[in-house]
Amino acid sequence: TMEFTDRLTRVEPSATLAISALATELENDGVDVVDLSVGEPDFPTPENIVEAGKDAMDAGHTGYTTSAGIIDLREAISEKLADDGLDHGPEEIIVTPGAKQALYEIIQALISDGDEVALLDPAWVSYEAMVKMAGGDLTRVDLSETDFQLEPALDDLEAAVSDETELLIVNSPSNPTGAVYSDAALEGVRDLAVEHDITVISDEIYKEITYGVEPTSLGTLEGMADRTITVNGFSKAYSMTGWRLGYFAGPEDLINQAGKLHSHSVSSAVNFVQHAGLEALETEDPVAEMVDAFEDRRDLVINLLEEHDIDVAEPEGAFYMMVPVDDDDQAWCEGALEDAHVATVPGSAFGTPGYARISYAASEERLEEGIERLADEGYL
Ligand code: PLP
Repeated sequence: TMEFTDRLTRVEPSATLAISALATELENDGVDVVDLSVGEPDFPTPENIVEAGKDAMDAGHTGYTTSAGIIDLREAISEKLADDGLDHGPEEIIVTPGAKQALYEIIQALISDGDEVALLDPAWVSYEAMVKMAGGDLTRVDLSETDFQLEPALDDLEAAVSDETELLIVNSPSNPTGAVYSDAALEGVRDLAVEHDITVISDEIYKEITYGVEPTSLGTLEGMADRTITVNGFSKAYSMTGWRLGYFAGPEDLINQAGKLHSHSVSSAVNFVQHAGLEALETEDPVAEMVDAFEDRRDLVINLLEEHDIDVAEPEGAFYMMVPVDDDDQAWCEGALEDAHVATVPGSAFGTPGYARISYAASEERLEEGIERLADEGYL
């Protein structure tokens, strides 16, 4: 018999994918499931980006690339980051098969057995798993009492971190809450990071999807440039989840260390996908249209929930919201799927029981249908 490693046996499979599997099972039985559990835009990848990918294949961009990614793309990313106020040359950037791989590589580079990592809850499901696989210990700060905002919870963060804290992960706009942290909140993070010499990952994968606010990049704050690693990707802003393309930028020594893991594992992101990424960074109108659609849907869902006397913290970015449900959110989500045929993700998967995450990356008809079914079956 095979014996498996501690680093894997201490981790659970992704809860989001587990719900999806259950939903797919029902669908295979012929049930019409309203799937509000998925973390991806429901739009096709913009045509110009698809064309650029095809053209790159036709042009023979099908071999290995430099491990860190083609220089043209890293230069374009460097310019994009400069627009965000961040100063990273191509030598401080690694292009990865998805932001998930970027986060994995950074955490593997920084976290050893027993190192402490702080998370703001609710937090994206994979942070915990990645930290555990690296042998790290988690310290969690609950933002559910402050409408998922960080600024009023800075005291709690201050109490949670210490000189023992190696790493803090900040994700704004947030999955699963849609919260965008204020500048004052980020300044509070900076003060604590500097005081305790903490490295910070700023996961900015939803930065391009916001409603009337401009999120500040943490690395632009004074004192943060040499302790921040900025992560972003193409999945969400350009509806490119299946292309697998992301990147991270940070101090050169971190890039060199993480680059070893990168080159010995994935080698590089896919060649022609990187060329499509170049086109994506030039794409503006289709992105603006998707963001407008998400904003309309957000407003629709908030209004529909209000009709059932349910108040949610209004998301300012991404395409998720946390809906308060029963204390036993796991049972609520399973029931909602079995009885109302609506798939959502339990808040406990993100470290925050008592909520269900709804993704509003679905058509208005499906969102209306989903809320109606939940109400009809007594779940709202
Ligand atoms: N970070 C957050 C907060 C996410 O929600 C996701 C995807 O769901 C990712 C990173 C990873 O995205 P990808 O690997 O598709 O670039």
